[in-house]
Amino acid sequence: MKATLIPEQSTTSLGTPLTSVLTFTGFLGRYFVSFILQFQFHKALCQAANHTGPLHTCDIYMSKEAGAKLREVLKAGSSKSWQEILFNLTGTDKMDAGALLEYFSPVTTWLQEQNNKTNEVLGWPEFDWRPPVPEGYPEGIDKIVDEAQAKEFLSEYNSTAEVVWNAYTEASWVYNTNITDHNKEVMLEKNLAMSKHTIEYGMRARQFDPSDFQDETVTRILNKLSVLERAALPEDELKEYNTLLSDMETTYSIAKVCRENNICHPLDPDLTDILATSRDYNELLFAWKGWRDASGAKIKDKYKRYVELSNKAAVLNGYTDNGAYWRSLYETPTFEEDLERLYLQLQPLYLNLHAYVRRALYNKYGAEHISLKGPIPAHLLGNMWAQSWSNIFDLVMPFPDATKVDATPAMKQQGWTPKMMFEESDRFFTSLGLIPMPQEFWDKSMIEKPADGREVVCHASAWDFYNRKDFRIKQCTVVNMDDLITVHHEMGHVQYFLQYMDQPISFRDGANPGFHEAIGDVMALSVSTPKHLHSIKLLDQVTENEESDINYLMSIALDKIAFLPFGYLMDQWRWKVFDGRIKEDEYNQQWWNLRLKYQGLCPPVPRSEDDFDPGAKFHIPANVPYIRYFVSFVIQFQFHQALCKAAGHTGPLHTCDIYQSKEAGKLLGDAMKLGFSKPWPEAMQLITGQPNMSAEALMSYFEPLMTWLVKENTKNGEVLGWPEYSWTPYAATEFHAATETTDFLGMSVGTKQATAGAWVLLALALVFLITSIFLGVKLFTSRRKAFKSSSEMELK
Ligand SMILES: [Zn+2]
Repeated sequence: MKATLIPEQSTTSLGTPLTSVLTFTGFLGRYFVSFILQFQFHKALCQAANHTGPLHTCDIYMSKEAGAKLREVLKAGSSKSWQEILFNLTGTDKMDAGALLEYFSPVTTWLQEQNNKTNEVLGWPEFDWRPPVPEGYPEGIDKIVDEAQAKEFLSEYNSTAEVVWNAYTEASWVYNTNITDHNKEVMLEKNLAMSKHTIEYGMRARQFDPSDFQDETVTRILNKLSVLERAALPEDELKEYNTLLSDMETTYSIAKVCRENNICHPLDPDLTDILATSRDYNELLFAWKGWRDASGAKIKDKYKRYVELSNKAAVLNGYTDNGAYWRSLYETPTFEEDLERLYLQLQPLYLNLHAYVRRALYNKYGAEHISLKGPIPAHLLGNMWAQSWSNIFDLVMPFPDATKVDATPAMKQQGWTPKMMFEESDRFFTSLGLIPMPQEFWDKSMIEKPADGREVVCHASAWDFYNRKDFRIKQCTVVNMDDLITVHHEMGHVQYFLQYMDQPISFRDGANPGFHEAIGDVMALSVSTPKHLHSIKLLDQVTENEESDINYLMSIALDKIAFLPFGYLMDQWRWKVFDGRIKEDEYNQQWWNLRLKYQGLCPPVPRSEDDFDPGAKFHIPANVPYIRYFVSFVIQFQFHQALCKAAGHTGPLHTCDIYQSKEAGKLLGDAMKLGFSKPWPEAMQLITGQPNMSAEALMSYFEPLMTWLVKENTKNGEVLGWPEYSWTPYAATEFHAATETTDFLGMSVGTKQATAGAWVLLALALVFLITSIFLGVKLFTSRRKAFKSSSEMELK
């Protein structure tokens, strides 16, 4: 392709075909012609002067014959045609480069030999190459500064992108709801077409210099288009990357865990259900370990290549690595520091919940399986990744005799269907004056796992088809309260799609990814209140007393608070993998270090680098960034607080139900309509009246629970955190097997454990400092000594 471009380009840059240049017409032509003719003349005059030998050695000095010939030419002036004059002098009426070539033939021969020696490429097949721009050099001096032209370009981009994105989304939907090789092929094909479109328009967008444009929107879109994402990869690597991604996701989606009797379990619903309902330690272990063997372990090698290619694409787009690119979507230079600050603010709540739940698990499974000062085995918390603990509410319920908020029994008893769950959610959104789901949504969504044997990607998701009328949800819905909440979550995405559908396609996105995740959850915070569930007949009675309140807040905390460290660590791990702080041969170990550091969890069975436990969580093989969920879990409480205020709610935040408040709906709708057209702090300002992320609303929501937990934990003499950080349920055998041991805080531990443990303790030292404020001075002083020394040790 490149080879044919060179002659094309030469022709175009000269403006006219080569033959017409030789007819004396153009202004530039005369010099070109002169350079040819002077050698023809030189040769003719040398012949007249009887020169012999190479042409470049000829000197016509003193030759009257040569002089006579030249005089004839000059005397003729323009009285004769140039062809005639040329003929009289040289014996031909054609211009001819032969004399020129003859003159230079010695040097031509020499050059050919030199070039052959060094294998030179003649011409410049890399015609696109440019020298690097020196630092400080004024940029964009050769760029397009016409704003009207930019607008025209963007309008063309918008209409073509809608077509190309729609075609890909349609193909991707078909594949996701029917996993076959053929459907995969079609999807990959459409993805390549989309990439080509991205490159074409991205390169054109880069030709504009928008620094003097009046319309900020134009600038914002051009900047967005200039990031080509994966399309920046060379075509063969792009194909490889796309295939890798779909292979990883497929491996994950069709993974099954088989028993000795050959009965096999998919994740949805079988294994999910075992984790949620079984209280048999070994049955839980079977499902937990089996899932990781069947999914993550099989993805490991592909993931390494995926990391390389992701980073390559990021670098081609001007980022240091793929993690830096992911973070750039938040348009916040201090993003990482802000998150850390938020996390430290929230951590006391998590540690108190952790200690309280660990005690309950200790009571259930015994000292053999739980250490009251150690991390919790990861398979006992009711969820495959221990990211939500609400399924073990029965084990931790603060007041077993008070009301328990669980809509599941009523839903089952009343014969609810997945369709009814979606209709209920739609009713809630429209009660706020928000947009109802269009007919296409009801016709084309997949809201149940197909019973016809199709393999599907069950992981719930919401889809925008970019044609402004087609929006769908794909969910293997189970009739229970958990999934009713998930339905609201996904419907929140579709509501966002509907709100911003008239924006240019580049702005059809959340203010930041966390906003998109937060909308449905905000609805769910109202829907799950006892008051609301009662009003839709999913709860018999509403009891208003402190015990019921604590029960209720505990059920929400098991979901929202338990999630926070997990939501934070997922991308901590990936950011470090992408920027190289985590090496290939320590993927799994570092994963568990983070699980220990933030969640206070340990694996129930030994893990090694043959395992790849991060890959057993959907978003990792599926290439979906995760910090959005952490952001969402923080800001959804800010939104909830602001909407409750708009709805005129009084009383504790956790009792607020914004149902039917058009004022609340308008606040949210107006922010959603912005899409990605403005930096997210503006959308935040619209909803909450201020531009920052803050954990205060969340802390305020859970304040009654926090007070209760601190009292309860103090009463039981709980140790916050997990000072016995290297405890595991299998440690008795593992511990002494370590060949190299070292003395660490007076304990004999393996050197690897000691290094991992040392920095965990640094974090814990901080944790204890914060939490002890809540637990009183006594606990503080008893722990302080041990941790002071450990943090110093870490600092080496
Ligand atoms: Zn979501």
